[in-house]
Amino acid sequence: MAERIHLEQHVLQGNKLIAGQNRDRFQRHHVLAVNVLSSPGAGKTTLLERLAEQLKTKLRMAVIEGDIATTLDSERIAAHGVQAVQINTHGACHLDARMVMQALEYVELADIDLLIIENVGNLVCPAEFDLGEELDIVVLSATEGEDKVAKYPFVFKKADAVILNKTDLLPYIPFDVERFEAEVRLLNVAAPIFQVSALKRDGLDEWIGWLCGKLEAADPQ
Ligand code: MG
Ligand code: ZN
Repeated sequence: MAERIHLEQHVLQGNKLIAGQNRDRFQRHHVLAVNVLSSPGAGKTTLLERLAEQLKTKLRMAVIEGDIATTLDSERIAAHGVQAVQINTHGACHLDARMVMQALEYVELADIDLLIIENVGNLVCPAEFDLGEELDIVVLSATEGEDKVAKYPFVFKKADAVILNKTDLLPYIPFDVERFEAEVRLLNVAAPIFQVSALKRDGLDEWIGWLCGKLEAADPQ
C-alpha cells in the first residue's frame, strides 16, 4: 500500500512539473486556459459549441478535446469554424499535463486569446491532474442528481465556476436546485453557479459574460 501511494505521488509530481511549463507558456502568450470537467454526457461539448457560436467573432479561441476514443467532439467544434485538436487517451480516464503539452504542438498560442480544454468525461481523477489551466469549470447536468456534488467533492472544491446544465428538464425530474446550490457552497464558497440549458440556449449570457470578464481581467486593454 505504501509503495502504491508513493507511485501515485511520483506521477502527480511529474505532472505538476509539466503543468507548470504549460502555465508558463499560456502566460507568456496571454492565453486564458480553461479546463472543463464533467461526467460523460453532461453537455460539455454542446456548451462549448454555444461558446464558439457566441465568441468566435469577438476573440480568437481554440479547443483541445479529450476523449478516450473518436474525433466526434473535435469535429463538432470545428464545424463552428473554431480550431479543435483532438486528444485520444486510448483508455486513460483523464487528461494529464503531458497530453496537453503534446496537443499544444498543433495550437499557435500567439494567435489565440482563449484555450478551452475539454477533459475526458469523469468527475473523479481529472480533479487531481493540473493541466496548467487558469480556470476550472465543472458542469453537472440536472439528470445526474444533486447528490453528485457531495459524492464527488474534489472537482467541486477545485471549480472556479459550476454550471448546472439541462435545466429545461427540471420540470420532469426530481432535482432539488436549492439543495444542489447548498451542497456546492459547503465545498466552495466562491464559485459562481450558473443554470443553463445548452440545448435550448437558455442562461448562456450569464456564464459567457463571466468568462469574458475573466478574459478582460487576465489581459486588460
Ligand atoms: Mg464531449
Ligand atoms: Zn483517470
